Amino acid sequence: MKVIENIKTIPKVQKFRYAMIILTSMTLLGPLAFLPQLVGSDDLCGSLCMRRFYLYFPGMTWEDFFVHVNAASIGVMAFSLIMITTLFFGRIWCGYLCPVGGLAELSSRMLNDRWKIEFRSLPQIQIRYGYFGFFLVAMPALGISACSLCNFITIPRLIEAMSGEYRGMMFLVSSVGLVNLGLLLLLGVFASKGRAYCQFMCPIGAADGLVNRLGAKMPFARRIRVAKERCTGCNICARNCMCGAIKMVDRIATVDQVSCMSCHECVDVCDWNALAWTTKPNHKVNEPKRIKKNTEIFPLPDWQAVHFNPVKADAVESAVKTGPAISVLSVFNAMIFLTVISIIIVGSFL
Ligand code: SF4
Ligand code: SF4
Ligand code: SF4
Repeated sequence: MKVIENIKTIPKVQKFRYAMIILTSMTLLGPLAFLPQLVGSDDLCGSLCMRRFYLYFPGMTWEDFFVHVNAASIGVMAFSLIMITTLFFGRIWCGYLCPVGGLAELSSRMLNDRWKIEFRSLPQIQIRYGYFGFFLVAMPALGISACSLCNFITIPRLIEAMSGEYRGMMFLVSSVGLVNLGLLLLLGVFASKGRAYCQFMCPIGAADGLVNRLGAKMPFARRIRVAKERCTGCNICARNCMCGAIKMVDRIATVDQVSCMSCHECVDVCDWNALAWTTKPNHKVNEPKRIKKNTEIFPLPDWQAVHFNPVKADAVESAVKTGPAISVLSVFNAMIFLTVISIIIVGSFL
């Protein structure tokens, strides 16, 4: 069976990652679905929410901001914890723990490739931060609720509906529920590698990506780094990257630290050991050599968290075609994506 074959081909580190995701899904999503009924409060989402407290409303004061922070106290703590972890270790929450992005990725992995839409070659930084700005400022100003586009509520409601709960079923047949379910399927399950929602629309992912990029230059920060001198430019890592975070510049793999989730898939597939999750080198490039079992291994790689500059990459003529190729299909996907977003925005007004 194709699903079993797909599972067998998953590398070891990725199996561990999926086990973590399944574990967090069971520990977080179940309680999130049923806690409101158990404690008789509908406002758990309010105190748990990690995505609303930083919205800017017209005329908002600092006092209002702290009221929002206070109302979402657990969500603020979780958000801060995620950002601190990211600063030191990369986007561990997104890559290893988040049940929403993780389950979408896992479902997409089980699906046959011919059903999937390729979103990874779209200009994700422009779309993600364009939408992030819209989410932070324009949506509150236009009176569109941040909750109307929340992927974090869709899966718990789905679980509720499947267990026969009235609220879950009503959510799924409401316009907000249908839009969110559509997004989960289109940008998750049916997206190539399952991370298109993370790439384009998740506000937590957008903030997390900025912190990841910010920390990449710090000497203590672990990131996926490239040893330029080892990279052959074979492009395999780029084709396998779930976030479209690797591009070839001058035939060398470069990692976009805003998008990378430290999932290790690229490390697994690189036959040349040119990628590693590591800190910045603390040696001068040609010295000292690493000595292992009395054998000198050199040159010691100069691990670099090279940040992908989209403008530069476009200008580099010698850049080989990168992983998810830009093709007629990509343009078609872009049109689907923009149409869906337009429907959502218009739908949110209705
Ligand atoms: S980007 Fe958002 S949905 Fe995706 S893994 Fe991160 S927090 Fe979860
Ligand atoms: S798989 Fe390894 S050698 Fe090939 S492009 Fe990526 S980093 Fe370079
Ligand atoms: S660059 Fe590597 S570690 Fe980062 S998201 Fe892509 S495959 Fe995963």
